[in-house]
Amino acid sequence: MYNPKSSNAEEFICHEEILDTLHYAEQNSKNAALIDQIIEKAKLRKGLSHREASVLLACELEDRNQEVYHLAEQIKKDFYGNRIVMFAPLYLSNYCVNGCVYCPYHRQNSHIARKKLTQDEIRKEVIALQDMGHKRLALEAGEDPQMNPIEYILESIETIYSIKHKNGAIRRVNLNIAATTVENYRKLKEAGIGTYILFQETYHKESYETLHPTGPKHNYNYHTEAMDRAMEGGIDDVGLGVLFGLELYRYEFAGLLMHAEHLEAAFGVGPHTISVPRLRRADDIDPNAFDNGIDDDTFAKIVACIRVAVPYTGMIVSTRESQKCRERVLHLGISQISGGSRTSVGGYVEEEPEEENSAQFDVSDTRTLDQVVHWLMTMGYIPSFCTACYREGRTGDRFMSLCKNGQILNCCHPNALMTLKEYLEDYAAPDTRRIGEALIARELEAIPNPKVKSIAAQNLKDIATGSRDFRF
Ligand code: SF4
Ligand code: SF4
Repeated sequence: MYNPKSSNAEEFICHEEILDTLHYAEQNSKNAALIDQIIEKAKLRKGLSHREASVLLACELEDRNQEVYHLAEQIKKDFYGNRIVMFAPLYLSNYCVNGCVYCPYHRQNSHIARKKLTQDEIRKEVIALQDMGHKRLALEAGEDPQMNPIEYILESIETIYSIKHKNGAIRRVNLNIAATTVENYRKLKEAGIGTYILFQETYHKESYETLHPTGPKHNYNYHTEAMDRAMEGGIDDVGLGVLFGLELYRYEFAGLLMHAEHLEAAFGVGPHTISVPRLRRADDIDPNAFDNGIDDDTFAKIVACIRVAVPYTGMIVSTRESQKCRERVLHLGISQISGGSRTSVGGYVEEEPEEENSAQFDVSDTRTLDQVVHWLMTMGYIPSFCTACYREGRTGDRFMSLCKNGQILNCCHPNALMTLKEYLEDYAAPDTRRIGEALIARELEAIPNPKVKSIAAQNLKDIATGSRDFRF
């Protein structure tokens, strides 16, 4: 029985409800009157249900699809302006006891190099990341209670926050580790993590169990209920995601939105972010072995439909995607991207020799952070290194209410300019700096509130003379 408030995974992600939804969406894929009604509702910017959004995803009327794309672009502009938040992944360890068939870290893969960073190696990786200009990390580690116990993760977080190299600092550590207990989530909260991210991989229970044949991750309910435990443990910013390509994308899309609805119904706060990874080639993994791959057009449509369905939720795209594909989806609703990423353990300090491959997937966008920053600015975006909300305690429902009444925009825009200014002063190549200074001067003029504008202008001057870390 479908029940979004239930704490049982099979009730809030109800298989029958998804099948019904897909049937309904299919039946109405050319129903212009209904589609128009849903688009009108989406224009109110209060979101859509999984059913309504699924109809838009299935829509076969080209003019209506174009309307959805335009609306997604407009919502993106209204909520996120032209800012794109930057982050980088940091792989701590690729030891893993699970058997996920799509991931090269699966236990049976004996020819991948297994590595786990010591605290000293983490220090070096973080210094390398700080020297690139990063302020926000997503920590990644395989599930291995012996090799990567919670104490190791907690110690690593402490190490990362403690490193102050030149003007560098990691100001927000997001975490992507296996589903764990309420008690461990509580410890992670105390350690100061930002968002807890856990990809569902697939919401289809039967496929899930086949794709995760061995290890603790095999337990679908335990995995799917992880965000509930994270919230009980006090973590109120959680990030959802599915790995597109494993199951039918329309099924995953409905499941993802049902998961968001569940968090809203049960805890009063929806997901902080949604990630949209697609299956990629990696050691021991051939994406062609999975027959649910999606093309770039479908991918773009998914991003646009998520944007109109959950306007307040940030959306993340990684370097799994090519420059061309990232360029396309940035317009449609992506608010965070990674740049200069290394997906191998220890990859920021030293590039691995090929025979030592420890990467989780092949990176498509291999540009440096500076090249990505330059590219974003030439397209009119403001690359932002802002981490203010987390540090000001604006998380969970506090954050969401500021988002919903639009007040957050008074913070995001000047914070983006000030953190970009720090980047330009400390790390940018001369041409990036030239373009960035012009962008900041233009954007400063566009701040509507005179008081905010004058404080931001003063802070920008102070950054130029050596001060750091201002925020609204
Ligand atoms: S997806 Fe995660 S849990 Fe599965 S094998 Fe890879 S690292 Fe381990
Ligand atoms: S002010 Fe908050 S919401 Fe805006 S970019 Fe910074 S951290 Fe994100």
